[in-house]
Amino acid sequence: MAAKGKENRIVITLACTECKSRNYVTTKNKKNDPDRMEQRKYCSRCRTHRPHRETK
Ligand SMILES: [Zn+2]
Repeated sequence: MAAKGKENRIVITLACTECKSRNYVTTKNKKNDPDRMEQRKYCSRCRTHRPHRETK
């Protein structure tokens, strides 16, 4: 395991809020974003930009 100092960055999955397709995997800072993140990204299933929400 690559231990890189700060432990606050965690991997999250972003799912389209429309079709629930899990399109993106990213990281976030648990301290800066304790709540669910939402990002506007392109969904290949909807074929347009949709809000993508953090999922487990
Ligand atoms: Zn979608």
